[in-house]
Amino acid sequence: MQKPDQVRRELSAAASRGALHHALLLTGEGDLSETARYAAAAYECKSPGEKPCLRCEHCRKVMGDIHPDVRFVRDEEHRFLSLELVREIRSDAYIIPNEGQRKVYVFEDCSRLDGRAQNILLKVVEEGPPYAAFLFLAESASALLPTLRSRCVELRVSTAAKPTEPSALAEEFCRLAGEDKRQLIAF
Ligand SMILES: [Zn+2]
Repeated sequence: MQKPDQVRRELSAAASRGALHHALLLTGEGDLSETARYAAAAYECKSPGEKPCLRCEHCRKVMGDIHPDVRFVRDEEHRFLSLELVREIRSDAYIIPNEGQRKVYVFEDCSRLDGRAQNILLKVVEEGPPYAAFLFLAESASALLPTLRSRCVELRVSTAAKPTEPSALAEEFCRLAGEDKRQLIAF
């Protein structure tokens, strides 16, 4: 389990030496979408140096959610991503990128990918075109079938908040501690 900035350093180091795996499974509680966006930028960045540089046209488009080759796969209408959508993604992955160097698909919540959907994706993740990249986000790796999981490199992200200032709750606690004990017990 690593903190998000450690994960970002790891992603950057791998991308900068051209060794970023094409299928990543980001696991952890909370919102992993910023880490996913960073990884997507690392795939698309055209900086000759450290990737993602977060300054080039591609990085800026990814971070602004407007890169045509980075797709957050969403289906607001169904509990599970529809198989039709997943099949469409599978076909789309074989179409060369628009302007980036990779086609990146982000599955934000793998608990919404059922077994059939995962089986549809299995082959393209395993032996799709070299420019296709997949980011699977899940609370736990068990959201993916072992077959699909085994094709991914897992990065465990610790998103547990580390308070840098006393929280409002802690402040209230201290205030009450200096006052009425009954109030403190009630609190
Ligand atoms: Zn860049």
